Amino acid sequence: MPIDEHSSDEADAFADDESGGETGTVYLVGSGPGNPDLLTVRASDLIDSADVVLHDKLPGPEILERIPVEKREDVGKRAGGERTPQSETNARLVELAREGKTVVRLKGGDPFVFGRGGEEAAYLAEHEIEFEVVPGVTSAIGGPGVAGIPVTHRDHASSVSFVTGHEDPTKDESAVNWGALAATGGTIVVLMGVGKLPDYSRALLDAGMDADTPLALVERATWPDMRVATGTLGTATETRDEAGIEPPAVTVIGDVAASNDRVNEFLANDRVSDALADAEPTDGDVEGAE
Ligand code: SAH
Repeated sequence: MPIDEHSSDEADAFADDESGGETGTVYLVGSGPGNPDLLTVRASDLIDSADVVLHDKLPGPEILERIPVEKREDVGKRAGGERTPQSETNARLVELAREGKTVVRLKGGDPFVFGRGGEEAAYLAEHEIEFEVVPGVTSAIGGPGVAGIPVTHRDHASSVSFVTGHEDPTKDESAVNWGALAATGGTIVVLMGVGKLPDYSRALLDAGMDADTPLALVERATWPDMRVATGTLGTATETRDEAGIEPPAVTVIGDVAASNDRVNEFLANDRVSDALADAEPTDGDVEGAE
């Protein structure tokens, strides 16, 4: 599909006649982890100019509150906790574009990192709707980052893997090869991995990873109520439960997960320092914690 602005005539030729006018464009936009200051300029402009913004809860309350209610459509969880089927969201994107609307599909983090953005892009292309991808700061890198944890480090980690924790690691057909990950020696960042933390930490230990490997959980990164908990792979579940960490959170496993100990004191961001003050380890070393 043509994506430069001069080729829109070609796309228009395919437009449905419903609106009698041009087919709208869909923007697959990443919101970043939640602080509005971390929206890209492009994301912010598009949110302002869009006719409709389809979103779920992941962009966080501060970003969602900036969008006028009349142009918001929540395609996340419905009452009862059940998720809007992806097929419905896909169909709605096409329907709105065919009505000639400028549509922002706003997703937490980056739209192409565990965000189903790829599925939506393919569906739009199949239905001959023009779209643009607007990358965002992914929580997989920016979440640990704001907490002072670099996902790579010249001395500690030469590779990083981003994995979903949603899969059941005990299933034979698990799409994540935890054994192979354990052997990389690099950083492992798990998304959607709060609930199954006991299972995949066990899978990594069983695959030979050291129980002392540092681990950090970063919840609601950059949100006003951001929280951080640190421990080790061997104490993963206790670390989660003692801090009461809940989704959305990223789990960082690897030597880098301890690196914020060395830099915390100098992290000049109130939200982050509050989160870290609350996150002091449970071994009695609570110096500086309030
Ligand atoms: N596209 C998103 C990821 C969507 S999958 C991105 O690039 O960030 C949903 C998972 O993302 C959550 O379960 C959690 O693991 C992670 N996540 C998203 N926003 C987060 C945030 N502000 N803080 C911590 N984790 C977050």
